[in-house]
Amino acid sequence: MPLPFCLDKVNHISLFLRMVYQTMSKLTRRGLMATAGAGVGAAIFPSKQGVADAKSLRDEILELPNLSGHEHWGSINAIGWRESGFIADLKMGVEPEDASLLDILFDPYSGMATHSKGIDRHAEARREGFKALKDWFRKDPYAAWDSVRRILDGLESTGWFSCLNAGFHSLYGVTLQKLFAADSKDSVVELDRKVQDRYSRLMSWYKEACGIMKIQKILRPVQLEFGFERDNPNEREIMAPLLRIDQFCTFYQKPTEAMRFCVEKTGIDPTNADAFREFLAKCFDLADRAGFAGTKQMQAYSRHLDFARPKDSDVLFEPTDDHAKQLIFGNFVMNECAELAAKRGWPHQIHVGTHNLPDSNPMPLQTLFRAFPQVNFVMLHCWPFMKEAAYLAKSFSNAYIDPCWTPVLNLEFFQQSMETYIGYLPDSKVMIGHDSTSVEMAAGSLRHCRTILADVLQKRVDQGRFDHAAALSLARRYFAENARKIYREI
Ligand SMILES: [Zn+2]
Repeated sequence: MPLPFCLDKVNHISLFLRMVYQTMSKLTRRGLMATAGAGVGAAIFPSKQGVADAKSLRDEILELPNLSGHEHWGSINAIGWRESGFIADLKMGVEPEDASLLDILFDPYSGMATHSKGIDRHAEARREGFKALKDWFRKDPYAAWDSVRRILDGLESTGWFSCLNAGFHSLYGVTLQKLFAADSKDSVVELDRKVQDRYSRLMSWYKEACGIMKIQKILRPVQLEFGFERDNPNEREIMAPLLRIDQFCTFYQKPTEAMRFCVEKTGIDPTNADAFREFLAKCFDLADRAGFAGTKQMQAYSRHLDFARPKDSDVLFEPTDDHAKQLIFGNFVMNECAELAAKRGWPHQIHVGTHNLPDSNPMPLQTLFRAFPQVNFVMLHCWPFMKEAAYLAKSFSNAYIDPCWTPVLNLEFFQQSMETYIGYLPDSKVMIGHDSTSVEMAAGSLRHCRTILADVLQKRVDQGRFDHAAALSLARRYFAENARKIYREI
């Protein structure tokens, strides 16, 4: 329906109302914050919330709860890694004795930053006679911190650093930048002690941090054995597991401990199509009983995303060097897993973009979306294929988007994602997770997502495209309600 006034007029009204509001806001305790989110559109459109509009949109969005559908908390060196993946994905509630500030700072994602800068972060430590930077830091934190400053020089502008910086600020009250000041070394040692203490009681720290950040729950992709091996079951109070299916796709190519666990637990070592189906069905059954909430794969990092269903007779159930045959086996597994997910109403997460760019365009996923209308597919990240992902989410009622990790790549990529999806997609199609290796990084990503989304929405409210209440409703859905629905009320 056409608006009863032209855009220029809207802008004039907006300007007038902004002036009125600014005058009024000086009288309120919210002062400048309220001015930033003047709720102009809300005055143009009759408000559903009445006095609630006096609160700025940004203030309200900063307080919204978050349910993150995609995290990797615990994927740090202090907890460790085995052949099958990070130990945090193999065992519930692992708490490290000797976590350090450096474990959080130099998480797996930091390797991308230092690699593109062309440096080895351990090089100086080795020259000083230590095996790794953390060993040096434990022995001589002051000297090692100087090395950290040199490593991070020139990386402060990246999304990765911005998220960590905001995370430390939100959870420890200190910025990394402050720690770079020449007289800050005692603060570095103090922060390191805090990290060590909080990580030695990690599950209670997670709960505390979630309370501070208003994170209601997270989902983490893990191996099946996570459902059976546990150090501290309290992790389940804040997280629900998703079953990683990647290692099923390379079952014969790369035998792993995680797959050996599945073989032992099911009592099936499959060598043909029917046995493999039975093997997968039993794994899914076990996962279901252990409280898993869906499935996840990262095949986009190693292959294209066309998962056409093969005939059983075309699939090879043994190791092969034939790449085409490896792909066909992956297609078989993917389709069987989707079948099993469909039976349970489980959603399936799939990586899109960020790596392997020639092959990680999501358009071929149409085959899968069409074949399994009962499965809700969540496309993760999506940069730089935001438009393609948006097209798919618009075209298929079972396709959704989680722009997780885009802030860690570049805060601007998250903003571009929001600008692309809002206005094109129904509000039910997007959910905001963080894909973070630590609660600290998730806290920073969430902080940035809240402010960026608030600014993107406020701009539209100011332009008169929709009102304050509609903007807030969208933000509520993006931050928690959509994920709660897709991941079945976890
Ligand atoms: Zn991830």
